[in-house]
Amino acid sequence: MFNSYTENTLEYHQERCINCKRCTEVCPHGVFEEGEKAAILKNQTRCMECGACALNCPVQAIEVQSGVGCAWAMISAAIRGKDMDNGECSCGGESGSCCGE
Ligand code: SF4
Ligand code: SF4
Repeated sequence: MFNSYTENTLEYHQERCINCKRCTEVCPHGVFEEGEKAAILKNQTRCMECGACALNCPVQAIEVQSGVGCAWAMISAAIRGKDMDNGECSCGGESGSCCGE
């Protein structure tokens, strides 16, 4: 079975990055880290495929197939440039959920 915590659809094309830092700002799981010349894909297995980074990247350096469920709370919040309405998604942070560790 597909496990987004050990494998996911996130693809990063670092050669396209213009270091705008948006991905590090919008990612709720710290997948990207600021680098000197380009963002660094630091924690790929933490990606839960919300798609916020790809939507906010101005040069299409990030590709990801967005998931469903509570990820949409995060993605819509990122699009609106706000925190999620209630400050958290609805998964409850259970182990194995998008916010579980
Ligand atoms: S898809 Fe979401 S969780 Fe994954 S790297 Fe992008 S912003 Fe972070
Ligand atoms: S949003 Fe795109 S261009 Fe900006 S730092 Fe991230 S990967 Fe680079």
